[in-house]
Amino acid sequence: MSAADRAFARIRRRRRRAAPARGRVTATDVRMMDRAIELARAAGDAGEVPIAAVVYRSDEILGEAANNRERSADPTGHAEIVAMRLAGERLGQWRLVDCSLAVTLEPCAMCAGAIVNARVARLVYGARDPKAGACETLYAIPTDRRLNHRVEMHGGVREAACARLLREFFRARRGRRG
Ligand SMILES: [Zn+2]
Repeated sequence: MSAADRAFARIRRRRRRAAPARGRVTATDVRMMDRAIELARAAGDAGEVPIAAVVYRSDEILGEAANNRERSADPTGHAEIVAMRLAGERLGQWRLVDCSLAVTLEPCAMCAGAIVNARVARLVYGARDPKAGACETLYAIPTDRRLNHRVEMHGGVREAACARLLREFFRARRGRRG
C-alpha cells in the first residue's frame, strides 16, 4: 500500500467515524408497517380516520393502536400517542429507549413532539401529510437539532398503500354526504 493509499484509508476511516449512524429500513420495519396498515383499515371500517401506529423493539410489539378520536372523544387520541402510552405501560417507564415507531401517516406536531419527548429511537412512516406533517413537510421536529433528542427517521415506507387507505376513506365519506 502506497503512502497515498494509506492516507486515503485514514480519511475514509475518519469519515466513517464522524458520520452519524445512518440507519436503514429493515424487513421488521416493513412488517410493522403492514401491521399498522391492517389496524388502520379496521379503524376506517369503524368510522375513524384510518391511521395506525406500532411501537416495537427488535421484533417485539410493545404497543399498537389506531386513531380513536371519534370513539374516545379525545383530541389527543392519535394512533402514535395511544400506541406510545401502551408501550410505556408495558415497559413500566416513559422512556421508549431503543424503540421504533411505525405509523401510516407522517406525524403531526403533537405526535412528533411526543415522539421526541418519549426518546423514541427511530420513526418509520408511510404517507406524507401536506396538511399537518411535522416531520419533514411543514416542520422537522424529530430531527430539529435545537431539541434535546433526535429521532432517526424514514418516510415513505409503503407510502402508496397508506395514502390509498386515506384517499378511499375520505372519498367514501364525501360520497355518503353527497
Ligand atoms: Zn398526531
